[in-house]
Amino acid sequence: MEKVAIGIDLGGTNLKGIILTEKGESKHVTRIPTEAEKGGARVMENILTLIGMLVEKNGGTDSILGVGIGTPGFIDQDGLMLGGAENLPGWKGTQVFAPIMEKYGLKATGGNDVTVTALAELRFGAGKGVKNMVCFALGTGIGGGIALGGKLYKGSHGMAGELGHIVVETNGLQCNCGQKGCVERYASATGIVNLAKSLCTDPGVTTPFAEELRKDPSQVTSKMVYDYVAKNDYAAVSVHKTATDMLARAVGITLNSLAPDRVVLGGGVMMAGDVILDAVKENTKKYCWPAIYERCDMTIAQMGEDAGVMGSAAMVFDEFAGK
Ligand SMILES: [Zn+2]
Repeated sequence: MEKVAIGIDLGGTNLKGIILTEKGESKHVTRIPTEAEKGGARVMENILTLIGMLVEKNGGTDSILGVGIGTPGFIDQDGLMLGGAENLPGWKGTQVFAPIMEKYGLKATGGNDVTVTALAELRFGAGKGVKNMVCFALGTGIGGGIALGGKLYKGSHGMAGELGHIVVETNGLQCNCGQKGCVERYASATGIVNLAKSLCTDPGVTTPFAEELRKDPSQVTSKMVYDYVAKNDYAAVSVHKTATDMLARAVGITLNSLAPDRVVLGGGVMMAGDVILDAVKENTKKYCWPAIYERCDMTIAQMGEDAGVMGSAAMVFDEFAGK
């Protein structure tokens, strides 16, 4: 009987579930509301309901190797939520694995929702065939994932991969995490927009982008910045240069630390594509030992919106297959 895994991606709005084969073939995908506002206990009940739906679709639990959970924040190796999931009130302190074993007799494993997308890239996307890989996910914030020796590296207490909080500027912008100068303050979608606002509120900056920004700063997005970068707008290009230089500092630190074969840049900001990739590649030279730089390539993520559930399910094969 072909073994399958259940993957669950816990979002602030929806819980998404998948039945996945080891080759990455999706047998079924479904979603239900998270009901985050109703608290941690309700979210856990909903996860159990979703697993029940997937088990029924699969015709029972016999062929299911286990359940992988991708969640915001930190989940430790025993399934305890250690925190860092501010969009899920009451989720911290929840025991996630035990109720799954109790109700369905299924083993469970977990990881940060962004970190697990790195495993999806490694198995099925931009990291195929690579052993050591680092992913930066440039979204509202910056998440990360590290794969070493062909496996997702979770670190102690599931806390590895917080690449967005690498400090790239001494006494830099204040970050929500308590540090100053984290890379996500400069190179996430939010960071890029903030850089644009602080540059363009100066009435001396008179490019078309700056003038559009001043009409309604609340409407500015990172996509808009990159639309103007494509038109070679001086102000937008200046924001792009700062953002990609800051990101390159963080990339350089991970290269010198881990000497990976590949760096993968993903997340919504990377819709801008090669313009960012090329600039980060070029700038990273300044922040990395050349011998390491030369042996590492850099590319754009390939997995789409199913990366979270697929990575969650892939953890199950990595951790439970053959056991
Ligand atoms: Zn931070």
